[in-house]
Amino acid sequence: MRIILLGPPGCGKGTQGQLLEKQYGLPKISTGDLLRKAVKEKSTLGKKAEAAMNRGELVSDEVVVEMVKERIYKEDCRLGYILDGFPRTIFQAGRLEETGPLCPQLVLDIEISEQTAVERLSARRICSKCGAIFNILAKMPEKEGVCDICEGKLIQRNDDAPDVIRKRLRVYFEYTKPLIEYYRKRKLYHSVNGEGKVKVVFAEVCSILDKEILGDEINKTV
Ligand code: AMP
Repeated sequence: MRIILLGPPGCGKGTQGQLLEKQYGLPKISTGDLLRKAVKEKSTLGKKAEAAMNRGELVSDEVVVEMVKERIYKEDCRLGYILDGFPRTIFQAGRLEETGPLCPQLVLDIEISEQTAVERLSARRICSKCGAIFNILAKMPEKEGVCDICEGKLIQRNDDAPDVIRKRLRVYFEYTKPLIEYYRKRKLYHSVNGEGKVKVVFAEVCSILDKEILGDEINKTV
């Protein structure tokens, strides 16, 4: 099952991706996480990406495409992948399509309003150690500032500052939203209402996957 999670920042791609990873045993590949790791490690890739990320802009297509290609050719993606945050431009989508047997089978667009995006991103906290996602309004950790899973320190991402949030949303509308039409034309597109509770959104996500992909695979075997 090769899935793309699409949608504006704050729509819940990371959270739904983590749940899908558990449910279907497929690796969730978040380009944002990979880039943040590279920045933390001060690698060449990280140095190339850091300034753009802090400004809320996109990292160059070439850098991100190479990073994703390297990742999806790994053994653990043999049965599929869940892409979170990639593609973000038509160019990236085209390069992903060129991977032949590794090209995506289904796109889930998690839709939320701009207001919800701003509210969620402002309240988001992530674990500096394991990357778990919290929200100080809706999904509070048991101990303030401490990750429930690994007890790592919770931090606010640099790009969750108000002016950077606004910039990221503008970038989404200009470069990423056109992917909706792109994948509609290819009949891979499905939209999900992302405004509800995590569990409700996840139920909708699973029902689409079960119908579209697993249903198809069952049909092929009978
Ligand atoms: P995310 O964690 O998905 O919100 O991504 C954080 C930041 O990483 C984005 O604002 C971009 O600067 C960069 N980034 C992540 N994915 C991509 C991508 N597919 N193309 C370009 N830049 C990306």
